[in-house]
Order: sequence, then C-alpha cells, then structure tokens
Amino acid sequence: MPALATTHSLNDYLKLPISRYREQLRQGNAQSIEVSYTHRSKPYQYSIQLTKTSCNYGGNRYWWLCPKCYQRTSTLYCAGLYVCRHCIGANYGSQLQQPIDRIYSNLNALRERLGWQVGIIHGIGERPKGMHHSTYERLLVEYEQLTNKLIRTFY
Ligand SMILES: [Zn+2]
Repeated sequence: MPALATTHSLNDYLKLPISRYREQLRQGNAQSIEVSYTHRSKPYQYSIQLTKTSCNYGGNRYWWLCPKCYQRTSTLYCAGLYVCRHCIGANYGSQLQQPIDRIYSNLNALRERLGWQVGIIHGIGERPKGMHHSTYERLLVEYEQLTNKLIRTFY
C-alpha cells in the first residue's frame, strides 16, 4: 500500500486572495486582473477574469473566475497557473492523481526535458542540441518504460 503521509494540503500552495486587490477594484469596473510572477523559475504573465455579485448592503463583491474551470472563487492557488481549489485537487495535487494521470505527467515532464512538444500524440522527437548522447539514450529508455506502463494500464 502506498503511504499517504505526504499528501499535499492546500496550505502547500501559494494563495492569491481576491481581497489583495480590494483597493484596485474599488476604483472602477475591472473585468480582469493582470498577474505576473515567477514560479519555479518560469515567468508567467496573463489576465485572470473576474466576476462580481452585488452585496445586500450595497456595492459589489468581486470574485476570481478560475482560469481552468471558470468557477467563481475568492481564492486561487498557484500550480504554475493560479487555479481554484477544485482544479488543484483534480489536476495538480500529485498525491490525488490517479496513477494514469501521474504517468502522463511524468511523460510530459520528460518530453519537456527533451524539448519535445508536450503530449504523447506527437511521438518521439529528436535529440536536443547540446544534450549528451548517453543522457539522451537514458531518457529514451525512461520514456519507453513509461509508455509501456501506460499501455499496461489500458489492458
Ligand atoms: Zn478551477
């Protein structure tokens, strides 16, 4: 039985509460907020859509629309992109992933390392310039093992 002791909790993710933009939102009729940050040394810059509801006591309350599922939420969590807690659970908490999803994400991580377009549908690519032959061979073997694992989950 795999141990569940390392299960991720939402506290492991960087939070982005809408309240952080309260001052900015008070000024006008914002439809989105532009965010820019670096996550695991990758730069991100994009807009997150907003929606608002009116409060009983007047004024509006703003919400994020999750960039992945477009659900309304007051807090987003950083998984590369900022997404809602449901999307974190469904796609990003690796402990919560089904084995097959885990194989896919390992395959894609490997593809990224090889500089191949992500998605196994694109097949095997070339050895990246500057990568040592022995490294490339080793990664190819790893890739093949993962692909076999994937095939085994289907049969
Ligand atoms: Zn979501």
